[in-house]
Amino acid sequence: MEFKGKVALITGSTRGIGKAIAVAFAEGGATVIITGRKKETAELVAGNIKNEFGVEAYGFELDLTGDIKSVWKEIEETVGKVDILVNNAGITKDTLFIRMKEEDWNSVIETNLTGTFKITQLAVKGMIKKKWGRVINITSIVGFTGNIGQVNYSTTKAGLIGFTKSLAKELASRNITVNAVAPGFIETDMTGSLPEDIKDSYLKQIPLGKFGKPEDVANVVTFLASDKASYITGETIHVNGGMY
Ligand code: NDP
Repeated sequence: MEFKGKVALITGSTRGIGKAIAVAFAEGGATVIITGRKKETAELVAGNIKNEFGVEAYGFELDLTGDIKSVWKEIEETVGKVDILVNNAGITKDTLFIRMKEEDWNSVIETNLTGTFKITQLAVKGMIKKKWGRVINITSIVGFTGNIGQVNYSTTKAGLIGFTKSLAKELASRNITVNAVAPGFIETDMTGSLPEDIKDSYLKQIPLGKFGKPEDVANVVTFLASDKASYITGETIHVNGGMY
C-alpha cells in the first residue's frame, strides 16, 4: 500500500491493534499520529516508528473522554490536516447486565461512541476541505453477535455500525469513504487478561483454530484506506477466523 503524502491518525495507538495499524501505515510511507492517554507513551511509540521506518511520526496525548477539541487544534497546527482517521480506541467494563452500574455503562458509551463522534466531526472538516478522506471505525464481532457480560460494550460496537453506514452516505459526495472493521478474538492486552477457560471456550468457536494477531486487523484497515478500496463505503469487513 502506498500512503506517501498522507497523514493518518489512529486513536489508541500506543499498543495492541492501534499500534499495529500505525506501523502498517508507516510501512506504506504515511505520516502517522500516535495517540493515547499518556503523552510520554505516545511520543515513545511515535519515536520508535520514526526510527524504524524513516517516516514522520508524532505522539499526542488524546483522551477520548477529555478535551478533544484543543488537542485537535494542536495536532493541525503541528502536523496539518488529517487524511485518514482510524477510530480504534475502545474500552470494556464487563459485568452481567443485572449488576451493571450506570458508571460502567456511561464510561464505555462516552469513550467508544461519544469520543468517536467528537473526533470524527473534527477530522471530517479537514477532509471536506481536502476533497479526500478515509474514516475507518474498529467495531467488534460482539456488535453483531452480542455477548454475555458486554451489554454496554456490544451496544457501542453495534452503534458504530449505524454510525459508519449513515456517515458513509453523508460524505460520499465529498470523496470521503467511511468503513468499519469488526475483529473477532485478537491477542492484545484487552483479551490477555481473560481467564484461560474463557479463552479456551473462544478458541473452540474459531474455525481457523487460532486467535488473530493485531496485524490481521491492520492489513484490512490499510486496504480500506488505500486507493484499491476507493469504491467501498458504508461496509464492515469481519476479521475473525470464521467465528461469525
Ligand atoms: P487495548 O486495550 O490493547 O488498547 C487500547 C488502546 O486504546 C490503547 O492504546 C489505549 O491507550 C487506548 N485508550 C484506552 N482508553 C482511551 C481513551 N479514553 N482515550 C484514548 N485512548 C484510549 O485494545 P485492543 O488493541 O485489543 O483493541 C483496539 C480496538 O479493537 C478497541 O476498539 C476494541 O474494542 C477493538 N476490538 C478488540 C478485539 C480484541 O480481541 N482485542 C476484538 C474486537 C474489537 P493508553 O492506555 O495509552 O491510553
